[in-house]
Amino acid sequence: MAAQILDGRSLAADLSTELRARIAALRERGVTPRLAIVFVGENESSLAYVRNLVRTGERLGIAVTVDRLDENAGARETRSRLKRLGSDAQTHGVLLQQPLPRHLSIREIADAIPAQKDVDGTHPTNQGHLAFGSGTAYVPATPAAVMLLLERSPHWPLRGRRAAMVGRSVVVGAPVAMLMLAQDATVTILHRESGALQQYLKLSDIVVVAAGVPGLVRGEDLMPGATVIDVGTTIVDGTLKGDVDFDSAVRIAGAITPVPGGVGPVTNVALLRNVVKAAEHAQVAASETPKANAT
Ligand code: NAD
Repeated sequence: MAAQILDGRSLAADLSTELRARIAALRERGVTPRLAIVFVGENESSLAYVRNLVRTGERLGIAVTVDRLDENAGARETRSRLKRLGSDAQTHGVLLQQPLPRHLSIREIADAIPAQKDVDGTHPTNQGHLAFGSGTAYVPATPAAVMLLLERSPHWPLRGRRAAMVGRSVVVGAPVAMLMLAQDATVTILHRESGALQQYLKLSDIVVVAAGVPGLVRGEDLMPGATVIDVGTTIVDGTLKGDVDFDSAVRIAGAITPVPGGVGPVTNVALLRNVVKAAEHAQVAASETPKANAT
């Protein structure tokens, strides 16, 4: 049977429709959701991602501003910019764009973002909730996109499923593994030192790949009928490639994301959804705060 294509563009369109209604409701109360991005340095592909986010925000009615800092900006300067944006009542979400230049570490900086405005889930408090499965308010965008796509797969709900996560980065692999575990899947985390992947992948109902190695996973590595989510994005000879060899995998998998058109488009909307959620929370909090002169 042909594999189901988990179409990220169509999922992003559905999520956008839902978001537009929530944004319209906020606007009726005089609130425009606003995201402030702090961008350190010149990373071109990261800049392209941010420009795309600004455009998507404009289309939906979310204001996205970008504060650029010099490549050599230090942790202190970056923290103070994040704090300033975080204290602005009109700004609902604050994000420090990654990857950072080598001399900066997200761990030294992320707590400068107020936890309630940390829409990409990098603040230690939100990371802690994610790690312990206690429900962070803001799931980081790419892991959130993976979970939203899994919700559309034949293996949802994940309870009792065997899942393999290839890659263990703080940004993608580790949080996706935690989120799948929180859904009661049995999760194996694989990485550069794991050796042969196939013995693990062959047993897995779900395979999520975020390694940055084009073509790492092939059809013959998979269990027939598996759900395959390809997070990888590498430019090879001017073309965007995933970590999964799509042509061989689509013949074995039961459901699979394409690259491009899979995780990428959902990531943007997942982040903006967190901004809308932050704006809704701020609005509720403001309406519950007693007026200074109230009796
Ligand atoms: P990373 O380099 O920080 O981590 C890669 C991980 O893959 C590491 O844990 C490493 O041990 C593992 N790995 C590398 N080679 C491997 C191999 N041969 N076998 C098994 N494991 C191996 O990368 P990252 O930031 O997690 O990103 C991973 C990929 O996802 C990249 O292609 C990146 O561009 C892409 N990405 C896509 C999105 C999106 O929205 N679509 C967002 C973030 C990252």
